[in-house]
Amino acid sequence: MPELPDLEQIKEVLNRRLGGKGVERVEVLRPLVLRCLQEQLLSGIEGNLLQSVKRRGKFILFSFETGTLVFHPMLSGRFQLAQRGERLKYRTCLRLGFAGGQELRYFDPRFMGRIYWVQDDDFSGIPQYPALGPDALDQSLSLELFKANLRHFRGMIKNVLTNQRFLAGIGNAYADEILFTARISPLRKRSTLSLEEIKSLYQAIGSVLTEAIEILKEKVGEKIEVEERGFFRVHRGGGGPCPVCGTILTEVSPNRQITTFCRHCQR
Ligand SMILES: [Zn+2]
Repeated sequence: MPELPDLEQIKEVLNRRLGGKGVERVEVLRPLVLRCLQEQLLSGIEGNLLQSVKRRGKFILFSFETGTLVFHPMLSGRFQLAQRGERLKYRTCLRLGFAGGQELRYFDPRFMGRIYWVQDDDFSGIPQYPALGPDALDQSLSLELFKANLRHFRGMIKNVLTNQRFLAGIGNAYADEILFTARISPLRKRSTLSLEEIKSLYQAIGSVLTEAIEILKEKVGEKIEVEERGFFRVHRGGGGPCPVCGTILTEVSPNRQITTFCRHCQR
C-alpha cells in the first residue's frame, strides 16, 4: 500500500516528467475506479495543461486549470510512466497520453483505489479528505501542536498513528518503522506515553519518513510502479532478528493488519 514516502517520491518524478505538459488524450479502460462522470473527466483534462502534481496524505492531486484529478490509491493502486504502445499492466484503469508518446498510467489489481474529478476546489465530496489531519511531514507541525493534537485520540498508539485524522500519510508499514525507531511498543495506549516518549515519536516520524524518501529516490527512481520495501528494519520481518538487539521480532495481526515489533527494544 503506498504511503507518504512512496507517494512523495512518485509526486516528485511526475512533476519533473509531466508538469507543465499538455494532455493529448485520455482513455478510461476500467471505469470501476471512477467516482465521477467519465465525460466530465475527459472534457476537464483532454487538451489541457497539467500544471502540477501535489500530495496530501495518501492522496495524489493533478492540477489543471479546469479542475483537479484526485487519486486515492488505497491498497493496490499504482502509477506507471510508459511509452504509447508499451504493453499494459494487469488492470490498467486509466491512461493519460502526453506529447511525444509519453503516458501516465494508473493500474490497480484489486480495484480498490478511487479517482475523483474536483472543480472549484471543492473537495468536500471525497470521502476522508475533508477530515484529514496535518500532513505527517508538515513543516509547521511543531512538537507543541503535535502533543496537543495527540490528546484528542485514544487507544493503541499504532492505531492513532495510522488514523488519517490525526496525521495524514502514515499507514500500517511505516507506523511499525516509526515505532521501532521511537522504541515504543505499538500496543501501548496513547494515554500512557510520557512526554519524553511523545518527543521521541515526533522525532521518529520526521526521521523515518524523510530517510525513506531519500532511499526511494535512489532505489525506485523513475520506475514508480515498483513498491520498494526491502530497506524496512522491522515491518513484516517477524521471526527474524531485531536489527538492534537480535531478539526474534514479534508479529501480531490485530484488525487483520500485520504489526511487527521487538519486545526487547520497544516498551
Ligand atoms: Zn530489539
